[in-house]
Amino acid sequence: MTQATQQAIHAGWLIDGSGGPIRRNVVLRLNRGKIAEIVDGENWRGPALDLSRATILPPLIDAHVHLWLSASADPEYRAKQCQATAEEMRWQIRQNLDYCLAHGVLAVRDLGDRHGLAWAEAKRLGSDAPVKIIAAGPGWHQEGRYGTLFARAPEAGETLAAACQRLDDGAPWLKIFQSGANNLKVFGQAAKPQFCLEEMRAAVAWAHGQGKKAATHANGEEAVRLALEAGCDSIEHGYFMGGANLRRMAASGVAWVPTLVPMRALADYPGLSAAERAIAAKNLAHQIEQVRLGQRLGVKIVCGSDAGCAGVICGDAVREELALLMKAGLTLAEAVRSATRDAATLLGLPGFILAPGEDADFLVVRASPAQLPRKLFFLDAIYRQGEADSRYHPPVR
Ligand SMILES: [Zn+2]
Repeated sequence: MTQATQQAIHAGWLIDGSGGPIRRNVVLRLNRGKIAEIVDGENWRGPALDLSRATILPPLIDAHVHLWLSASADPEYRAKQCQATAEEMRWQIRQNLDYCLAHGVLAVRDLGDRHGLAWAEAKRLGSDAPVKIIAAGPGWHQEGRYGTLFARAPEAGETLAAACQRLDDGAPWLKIFQSGANNLKVFGQAAKPQFCLEEMRAAVAWAHGQGKKAATHANGEEAVRLALEAGCDSIEHGYFMGGANLRRMAASGVAWVPTLVPMRALADYPGLSAAERAIAAKNLAHQIEQVRLGQRLGVKIVCGSDAGCAGVICGDAVREELALLMKAGLTLAEAVRSATRDAATLLGLPGFILAPGEDADFLVVRASPAQLPRKLFFLDAIYRQGEADSRYHPPVR
């Protein structure tokens, strides 16, 4: 099929990425790979690609991944991969990008590897890559604190902003680790923030001055509050941040990437004790309630899976994150918006919405919306500018 002959797409259901109602039986009329108009399919008499038994939706984005990490849930392998060579990590990055493509995840934001390999891969692949990588390069943490695998630390006596400037690699995002991981021994106990407000503020201001955005790993009330006061653009995780922070985020429009899947995966992870797994399950339940409140308050919730964590597989993790967001009260259309339009806005990417004037880029799922997001593990096709992408191969039936 070519752009010249393909004039119209007849879709059984359309989820357009705006979060609005799912439309039934529509025709997308195309012009040179762009959507010219979306009309009622009932009265359409012209030729059209028949997808009348399928749902179409924009390609997906995972706004929080670590491409260098395997999702292996084998504790021994996880310990070993932390010592992987650069070549082994590059192989893993490519593997993870293949998994993303296989699940219709066509853009990811990589939030940290200490060697900056994902950012190097983003530059190497360029704009023709089947999966676009937006990357932070290595993140920043405080010497002796959480984040060694993903970040580096300023030198003794050096401020965070000075360190960022000294080692600037041109990556479009700055990633700051501002708290620890969630405590799996004591429910809800937050780690102390890593950086003071003044240091955070100066680093974020430096990033903004360079045209970068700043993402902050923050769990707990104080770490999130400081990140918000410092002016960061997205809060990653935000476990136990509390209602006051959610209200601040709703008012300021700062994005929240609540990363539910890794906690779900930890609740099953064989590398933990039964007591730790039980706390992970409680953390997840608590976070789902925070998402419910955040959604009610109007917080900009963005889908990110933290893929690379134990049991969190690139690509497929988006399907699981969408299901958990729906468990927290988002409708299917709202969950899809968090992984399409809202994620694209955060990442500064055009598209990821199906509307007149936009590229005809979409996923085809041969199912009604009632089988979503589950059926995302089996896509029928990926279309870019109205043409089926030959780099995607549907699973063999
Ligand atoms: Zn992460």
